[in-house]
Formats: sequence, C-alpha cells, structure tokens
Amino acid sequence: MLKLTSPSTIRYIMDKYGFRFSKSLGQNFLIDEGTVNRIVANAEVGPEDMVLEVGPGIGVMTQVLAAHAEKVVAVEIDSSLLPVLNETLDGLDNVEVVHGDILKIDVKALLNEHFGDRKPKVVANLPYYVTTPILMRFLEERLPVSEIVVMIQKEVAERMTASPSTKAYGSLSIAVQYYCEAAVVQKVPPTVFMPQPSVESLVIRLKLREKPCVELVNPDFFFKLVKAAFGQRRKTLLNALSAGLSMPKDKILTALEEVEILPNIRGEALSIEEFARLANAFEEI
Ligand code: SAM
Repeated sequence: MLKLTSPSTIRYIMDKYGFRFSKSLGQNFLIDEGTVNRIVANAEVGPEDMVLEVGPGIGVMTQVLAAHAEKVVAVEIDSSLLPVLNETLDGLDNVEVVHGDILKIDVKALLNEHFGDRKPKVVANLPYYVTTPILMRFLEERLPVSEIVVMIQKEVAERMTASPSTKAYGSLSIAVQYYCEAAVVQKVPPTVFMPQPSVESLVIRLKLREKPCVELVNPDFFFKLVKAAFGQRRKTLLNALSAGLSMPKDKILTALEEVEILPNIRGEALSIEEFARLANAFEEI
C-alpha cells in the first residue's frame, strides 16, 4: 500500500493522475502519520463504529479509519480524486467513496442507505472554506450522527467551543453548544500539511446531545436574540437588544427584570441557559 503521508507519494500521484491541488476546494492534505493517527484515536474509532468522512482527499485518513472501523463512507467533491482513491483504497472492502458535495447531497438519505439505523461518527479534516456551513448543516438538520471529530481552522474552533465572558464567545458558540458538547482535543501546526495552510488548526470533538441543552418556546426568536446581543459587543445588553431587535427599551427591561438579568451587562456575559430564560420571558410578556 502507498505511504500517503509521504510528499514523494503525493508527487507520484500528481504525475500519474495529473492531479493539481485546488485552493478553492480547501485542499491541504495531511503528510504526518502521527497527526492522522491521533485524530482517529481522538475519535475513539473502534471495530463497531460506522464512520462518515467528509473530503477524503487522496485517502490518507480513510486508510487509517478503515483499519479501525467496521465501515467507512467517504464523500469527496473533487472528481479528479476518484481514480486516485480507487488506487489508494484498493482492497479495503469496508470503504465506500461517494462523489458529491456534502452541502448539496441528501445526507440523510445517504446515511440511511449506508448505515441503516446505526449512527456514524463524522471524522474529517474539513475544507476550511466551508467548515461552518458543513457543521451547522449536520447540527441544524439534526442528522443522525453520534459524534463529530473534525480538524478545522483554529479561530473557528475557538469560537465554537468558547465559554461566556471570553473574546471568542459569540453566536457561533451558542449555535453549536445548543446542539452538542464541544471541546478542543488536539492542536495541529501548519507544517503537517501539503501545501501548508496560512492558518493554525485545531481538532474539535462535538458530542451530539439527545436533545438541545435548553428548552425554548420559540427557537427562531432565541437565535435572533443571541444574534442581537452579540451584534454590537461594546453596547450594554439593553442597548444591543433594543437596536438588534428593533424593540422599545421598556419591553426589553420588563423581560430582563422577569429573569433577573441586569440591563447594563454585556451580552457576552450570558450563558446559553440565561439566553434561553430571557428568550422564553419575551414570549410571556
Ligand atoms: N482528508 C484529506 C487529508 O486529511 O489529507 C483531505 C483534507 S482537505 C483539507 C479537504 C478535502 O475536502 C479535499 O479533498 C476537498 O476536495 C474536499 N472537499 C472540499 N469541499 C467539499 C465538499 N463541499 N464536499 C465534499 N468534499 C469536499
């Protein structure tokens, strides 16, 4: 089997298949065996696991996933990689490659077709240009997966896993943590990729909750409220909400009083539970 973490193998593949890296498809391939093994270890992939990989590239992580999991399905957008994957994954009979755009294909139907009622883990080195839309698609559509372990750009990972009253905490932290427990599990420097990206990377683990962590009367309004609270971070919560929701201040004050939240704090101080209580209070006044 070809050693896919070797730059000379990648050059051989480029020559043989006429493959060229596409910047617009976020193609930065892993060339460090230790990093690949650690991502798979962090995902705790075992013989009874089903795995969905997004963007297998030339199959460097797919090979390792296949060695640990019961079954791996890998969705790749770039048709020029299909003949490469045909060679690099040859003989691995628990792997299937699907050609498609993970943002456009019917993922629910794909999961059902390949995994039945088993919930796979999603494990991937995601293309950075679409990290957030891909992850939010899995979360918002409540796609039946048990866990997501992905490498993404450091700044985005920090925002997704941030706690209240930190610089990185914002509407993305809440959108993600509403659906799952989120944690950073691994740091990855740019030197382990070919070509090297200009950003640092982190691996995050998202453990999907059976149900969201807070009960909401009106989820749409909750997310509107969160967006408004972070819309103007320097303003007090009262002013940010009044501007962001185009709502009179007395109405906002009534809701804040109802849940005993001070109007002059900043939105970033509120936990997801406090945002939920506040959003629900608006529904009652
Ligand atoms: N897994 C490989 C690795 O670690 O070396 C490649 C990772 S590379 C960062 C991202 C991969 O995702 C590329 O193979 C790229 O072609 C693929 N990709 C980009 N956009 C995609 C999309 N919308 N749907 C599916 N795959 C996509």
